Amino acid sequence: MAIDVKNLNYYYGDFPALKNLTFSVTTGGFFIIIGPNGSGKTTLMKVMAGILKSQFDQLKILDRPMDQYSRKALARTIAFVPQMIPVDFPFTVTEIVLMGRSPYLGMLGIEQEKDLKIATQALAFTDVEHLAHRKLNQLSGGEQQRVFVAKAICQEPEIILLDEPTASLDLAHQVRLMDLMEKLKHERGITVVMVSHDVNLAAMYGDRLLLLNKGEMVRLGSPKEVLTFQTLEHVYGCTLLVDENPLGKTPRVTPVPGKYMT
Ligand code: ADP
Ligand code: MG
Repeated sequence: MAIDVKNLNYYYGDFPALKNLTFSVTTGGFFIIIGPNGSGKTTLMKVMAGILKSQFDQLKILDRPMDQYSRKALARTIAFVPQMIPVDFPFTVTEIVLMGRSPYLGMLGIEQEKDLKIATQALAFTDVEHLAHRKLNQLSGGEQQRVFVAKAICQEPEIILLDEPTASLDLAHQVRLMDLMEKLKHERGITVVMVSHDVNLAAMYGDRLLLLNKGEMVRLGSPKEVLTFQTLEHVYGCTLLVDENPLGKTPRVTPVPGKYMT
């Protein structure tokens, strides 16, 4: 298993943000976490990325307990693309993407030709090559998001975690990013774990979906098992139409205007 979570709880002070979660992410899978605002998706991603320490040691990465990883070993294993990109980050796109190589560099931290080649390839993958010499704060939200995806790819991880990576992307870049993750999964065997606010993208690309609500696991399964209108209406509190996507056999979810429970 790429990730094993067992009876995981996470508290902010007294507030239980994650309640007794148990699930596994299969190696080489495309695992997508969905749920309403505030359901704990980002908290869960940060726990899996090792940024937030869970109070109890209930997390295994590639069958080893999280606390057995050094920082460097963890950075070679997991790359995390955060939901919130740091605003004041005075670096160029190339500098940021090259930071992805730091867990591989020697004592002096000097990049070799190979590192530069991997960085250039990552820039091309996410369509930000033309921005290579620009500063991050001169880019649009969508461009910044793609730069951080490039950094994660440059890190050559075994597991990539992405928190709402398509949120500020236009339609073409949304599909490109999802296809890129699919390609990394197929060609390099990378495990992809993503938070998505877009249930239709989740249905098309995810092989397993985890639906969270108020820190609890509501459903875990294939898109067909998770995306039923009974479950979704209850969790999201609005009337939804769920039918079949004409492009394939995945569910398609359409919100019905003007019908929500307050
Ligand atoms: P999501 O990503 O699903 O929108 P989050 O994981 O960001 O949800 O937040 C889950 C819950 O935890 C929310 O109720 C949020 O207000 C709360 N929360 C998030 N971060 C903090 C924090 N640093 N301190 C206290 N509460 C927090
Ligand atoms: Mg979030």
